[in-house]
Amino acid sequence: QAKGEGRNTIRFFDPDMQAAITNRITLEADLRSGLKQNDFLVYYQPQIVKDGKLLGAEALLRWQHPSRGLVSPTEFIPLAEDTGLILPLSEFVLMTACNQLVAWAQHPETAELNLSVNISARQFHHRDFVDQVLGTLAKSGANPENLTLELTESLLVEDMESVISKMTTLKSRGISFSLDDFGTGYSSLSYLKRLPLDILKIDQSFIRDLLTDPSDEAIVRTVISLGQSLELAVIAEGVETGETREALINIGCHVYQGYLFSHPLPIEEFNKFIRKMQTETITNKV
Ligand code: C2E
Ligand code: MG
Ligand code: MG
Ligand code: MG
Repeated sequence: QAKGEGRNTIRFFDPDMQAAITNRITLEADLRSGLKQNDFLVYYQPQIVKDGKLLGAEALLRWQHPSRGLVSPTEFIPLAEDTGLILPLSEFVLMTACNQLVAWAQHPETAELNLSVNISARQFHHRDFVDQVLGTLAKSGANPENLTLELTESLLVEDMESVISKMTTLKSRGISFSLDDFGTGYSSLSYLKRLPLDILKIDQSFIRDLLTDPSDEAIVRTVISLGQSLELAVIAEGVETGETREALINIGCHVYQGYLFSHPLPIEEFNKFIRKMQTETITNKV
């Protein structure tokens, strides 16, 4: 709050502030009509194992805005969370992902593929979250063994007992959990020990300068040995170059996601990527 301006100087009249508010109101209205008009879609980014095998993909939400084109989730997820629109949006992502798992289950070559779905804090803490996930799995007929839910650290600090209880219920049905953007949030080693996690995803901010920044390398090494001690798989996000992939292999990280292999793709493109993988392993290419 600006000092010495007196109580009646309302910041509303700051033109930047005014623009931001107008922008937000427009965006919220657009989000609502986007949901009605089915302007949202799911992209898939491959997750690759060291031997070149395709583990599966991360499902990433996209908004095909009628005038603004493809809008990044970082631009609308926070607002969707504030307005509660994240609930129908995440329902859509989960259902789309589950239906895709069912489609892949029809063919032996794709039946083992895994999908990771991002879960927002508001969605996770909703009282119906467990029922939502189990209901969507049941409705679609997807195999829970092929579904991973990505949680972020910020979501886990609130009401630990309830978090553990929800995770345990879902894990008992075969669902896996990964901790996304690991290292960027509130990291407490005691909660890592208590949470029934399967995977740590090292945030891409530590991967980007892995080759040139010794502290990033130290952090990545530490996360990998932490993963080994806690028996968690470790995935490196944001792998953009073959050199980074080589460095990760040397450090002992065996699963990767990043532009080196592919950008997130619409489903038709991703299915083409799968077919390409069968004849030509990624290892031979990079
Ligand atoms: P995230 O879950 O950490 O997803 C990884 C992000 O990194 C994606 O951005 C992906 O496109 C990007 N990325 C992948 N490889 C590379 C790389 O090699 N280099 C760089 N620079 N970036 C890479 P995207 O798709 O824009 O998503 C951003 C964030 O939005 C996600 O971060 C996630 O937090 C959120 N998000 C996306 N889809 C959903 C969703 O369905 N539900 C929720 N709650 N959040 C979502
Ligand atoms: Mg993620
Ligand atoms: Mg991430
Ligand atoms: Mg992120």
